[in-house]
Amino acid sequence: MRTKLVAGNWKMHGNLATNQALLNRVREASAGLSCGCAVCVPFPYLAQAQASLAGSKVAWGGQNVSEHGQGAYTGEVSAAMLVEFGCRYVLVGHSERRALYGETDAMVAAKFAAALQAGLTPILCVGETLAEREAGITGVVVTRQLDAVISASGISALGKAVLAYEPVWAIGTGKTASPQQAQDVHALIRARVAESDAAVAQGLQILYGGSVKPGNAQELFAMPDIDGGLIGGASLVADDFLAICSAA
Ligand code: PEP
Repeated sequence: MRTKLVAGNWKMHGNLATNQALLNRVREASAGLSCGCAVCVPFPYLAQAQASLAGSKVAWGGQNVSEHGQGAYTGEVSAAMLVEFGCRYVLVGHSERRALYGETDAMVAAKFAAALQAGLTPILCVGETLAEREAGITGVVVTRQLDAVISASGISALGKAVLAYEPVWAIGTGKTASPQQAQDVHALIRARVAESDAAVAQGLQILYGGSVKPGNAQELFAMPDIDGGLIGGASLVADDFLAICSAA
């Protein structure tokens, strides 16, 4: 039986004061949660997340990681640095990174490998654009994104990772995939992994992301292959994020 996980992606939002209020609320409420819970915060606030959440049930992580170990890579942050701030998770291949910063499947695969090597749990994001869905190639796109990581790191690596299916057309748009649309892609992903390793497929947490709100979380999380959510906008509002965690 897979446990559910709800991870917040704060994106580039927050300041020390608003973060503290949010972290305090999440920490207080976390004792009563039966799902896993995490927040992925901007790099400058990792120390604040660590100080606020250490010893609680809430894990924290980064939103991006360099594929390189160290060196002359101005502006980049290594996996080892994230580990020093107590991170358990890191988002890899979020669609905003792919679309706005030119991250290719190969770069995402290299970042995934770097995260794993440092002992982090990568949350690998995959998903199709609206044009790709309308062209009927959702499965092709998601499989290509997944296969890039499997070829680089091997199937067993997925046993130490979390997947997030995030249709690009549903992120930050208020349009959510229907529970059945999401379930279909989650089942496709699990079947693809099962072709190589049935046990890894069975244990793999596959989160859904894309305009998850308190009002739609429960029906999404009730689907058999949806193991929780990656939450953007709603993770910035304590009541909403905690309601979504309760739904899980
Ligand atoms: C995200 O950024 O991963 C996300 C799912 O955003 P939102 O919940 O705002 O659609």
